[in-house]
Order: sequence, then structure tokens, then C-alpha cells
Amino acid sequence: MMKILSINNLEFALSEQSMAGTLAILEMERLTDVLLMPQIVTDEHNIKFTLTGHNKKYSSPSLHLSLDAHFPTTCQRCLNPMSVRLKLEYDYLITDSELTELDENDDLDWLEISPVMSVPALVEDELLIAFPIAPTHSSEQQGECKQHLVQSDKKPNPFAVLKDLIKKSS
Ligand SMILES: [Zn+2]
Repeated sequence: MMKILSINNLEFALSEQSMAGTLAILEMERLTDVLLMPQIVTDEHNIKFTLTGHNKKYSSPSLHLSLDAHFPTTCQRCLNPMSVRLKLEYDYLITDSELTELDENDDLDWLEISPVMSVPALVEDELLIAFPIAPTHSSEQQGECKQHLVQSDKKPNPFAVLKDLIKKSS
């Protein structure tokens, strides 16, 4: 069971509170479904977050969310295990009214006023959107990717094997 971390988001922003924590990937069911996760999740795979309330940063009270997440996944090019790291920053206005400020600022999101906004659910929502659909080894890790590809080239060609079988049976 995930520890329920919910806040009154308007009050949190108005009183400029902040919180920081670490969330376990395995407790995020929707996220683990999309991770293509072949590896055992280790201690280094987790989601660190900081949430800070701001009263005067924008025209409405706002929250700043900072995420540093480290996931196990599968490279979609070489199909070997790899890690994905996502470092993300978000600003949300806390408001129930339609916004004009949002139109002018693409970097701003908004959240409905809620006395029990779930912080893990917000984090999971953002990670689901940000997680790459087809993660592959990055350019710095390309060597690893190519190495694996070369190795897989050495596997017997299925058609060659078939040819041998045909020869043997004739
Ligand atoms: Zn790869």
C-alpha cells in the first residue's frame, strides 16, 4: 500500500509549504505497466520529488514540482535492460477558474483546488506523460547498444539453420 500523501493544495501554496520525498516505482501500478520492465527494481530506481508552494510567484497561488526519477526499462533498439532518468520541473496554478494567464505562458499548468490532492498521483500522472514511448540507449550509451547488436548478429541465422535441417533430412 502506498502511503497516502495528500495535501490541501490551496493552503499548501498560500502558506508556502514544501515537502520532499522518495516514492517507490513498484507502488505506482499505472507506471509499472508502461515501463517495459525486465529488470529487478533496485534501490537506485526510485522517484525523488520536491513540492513547493508559492503565494506570490504568479497571479494565483501555485505549486512547483521537481522530479528526479530513475527507472529500469528495456531498450527498444537492442532489447537489453537499460535505465532511464527523467529530471522534470513543473509549475501549477491552483485555481478553479478558467485562466487567461495560461494562454500566455506555455510553461504553466493548473490544478483544481482540492483539500485532498494526492501527491503520488500527480507525480505518477506527470511521469506517465513524460516517459518515452520507445526508450533506447542514449547517444552516450550507444556503444552498449551497438555491442549488443553485434552480439545478436552472431546468433545463428534461422534460415541457415533451416538449410542445415533440410540437408540433414534429405
Ligand atoms: Zn540499446
